[in-house]
Amino acid sequence: MVEDADVIVLGAGIVGVCVAVHLQMRGRQVVLADRRAPGEETSFGNAGLIQREAVFPHHFPRGLADLFRYAKNRSTDAYYHPAFLPRLASPLLRYWYHSEPGRYLAMARRYAPLIMASLDDHIALATSAGAMHLLRPGGWTQAHETQRTLNASLEDAETMRREFGIEHEAMDAGALARHEPHLRTGLAGGVHWPRPLAVIDPHALTLAYAAHFEALGGRIRVADAGDLRRENAAWRVGALAAPEIVVALGAWSTEVTKKLGYNPPVFVKRGYHAHFGTVGNAGLNNAVLDVANGYMLAPMRRGIRLTTGAEFAHRDAPPTPVQLARAEPAARRLVPSLGERLDKEPWMGARPCTPDMMPIIGPAPGAPGAWCAFGHAHHGLTLGPTTGRLLAAMMTGDTPFTNPHPYRAERF
Ligand SMILES: Cc1cc2nc3c(=O)[nH]c(=O)nc-3n(C[C@H](O)[C@H](O)[C@H](O)COP(=O)(O)OP(=O)(O)OC[C@H]3O[C@@H](n4cnc5c(N)ncnc54)[C@H](O)[C@@H]3O)c2cc1C
Repeated sequence: MVEDADVIVLGAGIVGVCVAVHLQMRGRQVVLADRRAPGEETSFGNAGLIQREAVFPHHFPRGLADLFRYAKNRSTDAYYHPAFLPRLASPLLRYWYHSEPGRYLAMARRYAPLIMASLDDHIALATSAGAMHLLRPGGWTQAHETQRTLNASLEDAETMRREFGIEHEAMDAGALARHEPHLRTGLAGGVHWPRPLAVIDPHALTLAYAAHFEALGGRIRVADAGDLRRENAAWRVGALAAPEIVVALGAWSTEVTKKLGYNPPVFVKRGYHAHFGTVGNAGLNNAVLDVANGYMLAPMRRGIRLTTGAEFAHRDAPPTPVQLARAEPAARRLVPSLGERLDKEPWMGARPCTPDMMPIIGPAPGAPGAWCAFGHAHHGLTLGPTTGRLLAAMMTGDTPFTNPHPYRAERF
């Protein structure tokens, strides 16, 4: 029997859940379809930061020294599968192109309206969903080993203050030690971003937003988006039928959009996490980025979550948690009271990335009633509710809170 809806949202990660809830709030009858339960892929295991400061997304390194360092494939923050590089060459070249300082700043100005709205949009949704207890204030901190990297970060932070009004606190060695007393001594200092919120259990937050969607009358169904087809002017997935669909399949999105005739150059940066206990009462007050080694330590419900940087590999290649193995000893040096590893196996997720570092939000070209909401890279948790609010306004003919043109699908 056919189950009708106004919209089928494909993908129940943080982005799809937030799109579904915003559409449902606007009176649309929405079915959220996923082959798994909500929030079990990339949205499960991130570092939990709602990055209100992140107007400058992660760019491709441009300096020769950095390129040379990454080429050796021995760093902790980035790692690649050499055999996969030829297939990545084209999107990475475009990523490098968009990272040129002038283009990068122009892009940040287009990206900023989304980032600036992220905190308020999460707070509004978490309040309605009864999930505020999962959001912790206090921001996050970059810890620097050397004065040279600290000075460089402070310069960047000043640019962010000047251009976008983003607040930071400069910390010398003493201030950092007072802020995070369980970091090792001898660090040069830190940069603290006070405004971002930290999610203490990202999976629980996605589930809370999904439960709110259901409470509003939304339906969640198990379905394989690979089965998407067009029949009698409607979209069909399994037994589901609707005049409109939203593709919010994260790193799997282009598998479906390709069939609609739209194949943007989305590539993945895989990432890993593992949890650690602490010795005695030691711990971290906020998430800490080890700048020298490029991993994050985020205090969460389950323990201290170590998350790794970017792994350039085929999305479906077997896990190679090399960066986790490199980061763990560095983390033990940074936080001497870090305790035992709590997970048997590392967790792995796939960040869906675009060459110009911005998500794709808007109608899918040439496919009537099909919409895109993917490509959020390092900021999908941050931008889930904002993406949902923006796309729901576009789909219901309302005036969006910002000009959606920069995020349009046609730019690829
Ligand atoms: C280590 C790490 C740390 C990170 N830290 C942060 C952070 O601190 N802050 C931040 O903002 N972001 C962070 N991110 C990025 C963030 O996690 C992602 O951008 C975000 O989770 C992407 O959400 P999504 O909903 O687009 O994709 P996903 O969460 O991957 O959801 C996609 C959904 O599609 C479903 N699906 C796929 N194929 C099919 C199919 N054929 N049929 C049906 N369903 C299908 C999947 O089951 C899944 O539920 C981090 C990522 C990693 C890996």
